[in-house]
Amino acid sequence: MWFHDRRLKRTIQAMILSLGAPLGWLIIRLLTGRSLIDELSTQGVYWYLLIGAAMFWSVFGYYVGASEERLEELSIRDALTNLYNNRYFHSRLPEEFARAIRHHRNISMILIDLDFFKKINDKYGHQAGDVVLQEVAQIMLSTARKDEIIARVGGEEFCIILIECDEKRALLAAERFLRAIRCLRIKLPTGLAINVTASMGVVSSETTDGSEWHLYAVADAAMYRAKKNGRNQIAIV
Ligand code: GH3
Ligand code: MG
Ligand code: MG
Repeated sequence: MWFHDRRLKRTIQAMILSLGAPLGWLIIRLLTGRSLIDELSTQGVYWYLLIGAAMFWSVFGYYVGASEERLEELSIRDALTNLYNNRYFHSRLPEEFARAIRHHRNISMILIDLDFFKKINDKYGHQAGDVVLQEVAQIMLSTARKDEIIARVGGEEFCIILIECDEKRALLAAERFLRAIRCLRIKLPTGLAINVTASMGVVSSETTDGSEWHLYAVADAAMYRAKKNGRNQIAIV
């Protein structure tokens, strides 16, 4: 149907809005007869059209802007967890790194992978696995500070970018997230409550040189070391 074509819909809306001021004029004329119009000077007509057009186009601009914001927000979020998605992470990480280098500041990263997540899926079902991901994401969001950027970078993998953060503070942050995940009691759709754990790798530009993606690889290697050492723990480069 034509109204499913967004471009056409917006064009028609804009066209109708552009008629707003002249139509308003017509209505005033119909309601008051000729008298009011005859009394208005050319300058009065000019001001009427100017203010009328500005009002209608402002409403349209606000509406389009709000809709753009909504779409942009949707495009950078992961649908299941509402955390930032992998695509956004890939654009934000280089940005934050460049900024950190420019201002001679440290930046750190925590890579998080849930432990034995496949077993949860196998034992309780995929839907239960999804609930676990949502709950873990929620607890991470409520545990995070304002300048900590959390993204879902894989199925059950998350990365936190810590701006203006040295290694010591990054480790403290990782402990805060590890504790929060450990203590989280997750109620599954069946009514059963379970706990999960995670393994984490921490890296900081304070102690590791290289590009952002090199640091990411180093955090990944650290995270795998945490897995090898028994999971449910943090490893640092
Ligand atoms: P490890 O402790 O070594 O990390 O083991 P693991 O089981 O957590 O890791 P593995 O990589 O073997 O399994 C990850 C599983 O995550 C496999 C995949 O089916 C599941 N998964 C990935 N994305 C989703 C998702 O969106 N929802 C659910 N329910 N499961 C997912
Ligand atoms: Mg994994
Ligand atoms: Mg895992």
